[in-house]
Amino acid sequence: MTEETIYLPCSEKLTFDTQKQAATAALVASHQHGSKLKIYKCRYCNLWHLASNYEDN
Ligand SMILES: [Zn+2]
Repeated sequence: MTEETIYLPCSEKLTFDTQKQAATAALVASHQHGSKLKIYKCRYCNLWHLASNYEDN
């Protein structure tokens, strides 16, 4: 582990440890909000995030 503080562009995003957790959250969001979210593995933090389909990452 380093002591460096690295700015992560995703620091304000929800993070999930596993693809399954992210997929579950995306499913809940689609039920609750009707929003279509995709999940992706982040190249910055190596965790999983949700992305709205208008976000291109
Ligand atoms: Zn990330």
